[in-house]
Amino acid sequence: MGNKPKHILIIGSGLAGSTLALELIQRGHFVQVMDNLAPNASSRVAAGIINPIVPKGVKKTWKYQEIFPSVFEYYRNFESILGAEFVFEYPMLQIHANDNERFEWRKRGAVTEMTELLAPTGDNTIVNSCGRLDVLQFLNAAQIELEKKNQFINEQFLSTDLIFLESGKADYRGISFDEVIFCEGIGIMQNPWFNYLFFDPTGGDILTVQIPNLPQDKIIKQKQWIVPTKEKDIFLLGSTFHKQSISEVQNPADAKFLIERAELITGKKVTLIKHQRAVRPTVQNRRPYLGRHHTFKNLSVYNGLGAKGSALCSWLSPMMADFISKNAPLNEEVDISRIQ
Ligand SMILES: Cc1cc2nc3c(=O)[nH]c(=O)nc-3n(C[C@H](O)[C@H](O)[C@H](O)COP(=O)(O)OP(=O)(O)OC[C@H]3O[C@@H](n4cnc5c(N)ncnc54)[C@H](O)[C@@H]3O)c2cc1C
Repeated sequence: MGNKPKHILIIGSGLAGSTLALELIQRGHFVQVMDNLAPNASSRVAAGIINPIVPKGVKKTWKYQEIFPSVFEYYRNFESILGAEFVFEYPMLQIHANDNERFEWRKRGAVTEMTELLAPTGDNTIVNSCGRLDVLQFLNAAQIELEKKNQFINEQFLSTDLIFLESGKADYRGISFDEVIFCEGIGIMQNPWFNYLFFDPTGGDILTVQIPNLPQDKIIKQKQWIVPTKEKDIFLLGSTFHKQSISEVQNPADAKFLIERAELITGKKVTLIKHQRAVRPTVQNRRPYLGRHHTFKNLSVYNGLGAKGSALCSWLSPMMADFISKNAPLNEEVDISRIQ
């Protein structure tokens, strides 16, 4: 590592906190992770789709080049460290809603830089380099690994219990830390040090459904998506986007809407098994928030992963870990100093 090992407290063990904890441990730091294990946290509900294409304009996603060549390898490395299986590569069948959309995708698919990703198939398009991180499996495996070493604390973090010591360290209930890193997802809105960062939360519904005899070898997408799971005939179906909503209460109308869409796309009977609702930690311009507090130098934030946490973490977590370990620069588009 070369740099002095630090004692680090991470608040939140969603995608941000869990990947960052593993990165910091790999760099030789002593990490403790605290999470209240709220069942409706964004990462515990997310489908975890990894998709290199933005449908609007049929473009490569932001930071494609930094993320996509290695995103699956990134999680496969964690699979071997944690001894669990949670990342799956599938093609995505993009079903075109009408002739205009089909024409747009065909036109973009013919551009040299897009040919590796888009392949016409009948009236529709196959998108390559797609897949799914089974986020819940990954989080559970990471938590088990942390628990083995007493590095996981199932508790609600209370900001009033954090004391700043003259030594420059921060004390939380009698234990002193060199760094406290907040990875709280939408919980950041209650964080007294970082609640100045503007969030534009987006509620979303996701269903677990049964669809008999639908092939489980690809993700199917129109506006909504249908994602295979490892269980026979069981799929994830989503998602809705409720702008500026922080409600985690399911509305049966959302489930009805998603099921009707899926029945139309597949021509098959879709049976609801589970309906979940969570809130994505979305930032208005879709640029995450990473960095250190302007005054309290041992407090940092890693948040704003929006609707793309699975892909973004593979790029941002190593970057954040290097920032904490050796003060390596953050990408300026995600560095919170852009708004301080
Ligand atoms: C319906 C839906 C579908 C989605 N689908 C996809 C998808 O297909 N692909 C994709 O890449 N992304 C998807 N996302 C987005 C993805 O889930 C997020 O980008 C990602 O989960 C954010 O992770 P996070 O770690 O920043 O936040 P979170 O997952 O919210 O994690 C924060 C954690 O901190 C804990 N916490 C907060 N405050 C405290 C406190 N004070 N004390 C203790 N613990 C605390 C919370 O309980 C939580 O466990 C989806 C999201 C939703 C809602």
